[in-house]
Amino acid sequence: MALRAGVDLGGTKIQAVVMDTAGQVLTSFRQPTPTAGGPRDVVAAVAAAVREAAAESGVELTTFAGVGVGSPGDVDNHAGTVTSARNLPGWTGSFPVTAVLGEELGVPVSLANDVDVATVAEYELGAGRAYSSLLGVFWGTGVGGGIVLDGKLWHGRASAGEIGHVVVKLDGARCPCGRKGCMEAYAGRGAMEARARKELADGTGTELFKIMEKRGRTRLTSGVFARALDHGDELAVTLIDRAIEALGAGIASAVNLLDVEAVIIGGGLGVRLGTPYAERIEQAMMPHLFSDYRPPAVQVAALGDLGGAIGAALLIPANRPAKARA
Ligand SMILES: [Zn+2]
Repeated sequence: MALRAGVDLGGTKIQAVVMDTAGQVLTSFRQPTPTAGGPRDVVAAVAAAVREAAAESGVELTTFAGVGVGSPGDVDNHAGTVTSARNLPGWTGSFPVTAVLGEELGVPVSLANDVDVATVAEYELGAGRAYSSLLGVFWGTGVGGGIVLDGKLWHGRASAGEIGHVVVKLDGARCPCGRKGCMEAYAGRGAMEARARKELADGTGTELFKIMEKRGRTRLTSGVFARALDHGDELAVTLIDRAIEALGAGIASAVNLLDVEAVIIGGGLGVRLGTPYAERIEQAMMPHLFSDYRPPAVQVAALGDLGGAIGAALLIPANRPAKARA
């Protein structure tokens, strides 16, 4: 029963876990993602995080069955490459992650899209265990999505699940993707931060940036939003209300199309704000649901911050629980 490691490679942090064959997390290690350099530096940091997590488990890394990596950007597991990971420093072209990381660690490496692995983790081990179809909605800097239909992840032609870019308002707000009226333009943490900075410049009073500075942050993180909401900050409340309305419309539209059994809300904001806000999203879906007499279950991601890394570890086949092998 060899151990597996999984890594969630994010724009702000690298999260590594070591998992046993039953899907139990034995150890975990987290460090900031390098903000300068290029893919080689990022992959070196991934290797270091895996070594730390493995060392804490007390088991020699070379005996591991492998290391799975959930990555942003264009992921090609067959070629072992990640291309244009825009949230990672200097990662414009294609980089052979599997070869370089495998060489560095001396174990097999498997790659997949970060949102896909987080969705599969919730489906196999988290809030989605009871269902055979679900929609994972990862409410963070952007809004990512993953779709499981009849027990299988649906990839489409490669880029299915981009729920952040379903249109919730024609000719609406400009989205970070460059288009207009996407759900992410209203609900993404990045878009909300851009809006908040503009409001601040226009003279709107808000505690958001004071809280950010007090916490030693340079961004309006999920934690900053959560704190501002606790204080009843008007701008934070307005932005989050707007986000919830957009999420309700976008998720309900996806449910009208797919009729999945459950919607799992994850991501930095989704996990941080938790059940009370998932319930508000559920309420915001209702006016838009076609079969409103039979809404899907709406739940917060049960694996929290570790979901991406756990899903990445599940990429190593021998580690998959019985449900996945069926
Ligand atoms: Zn968009």
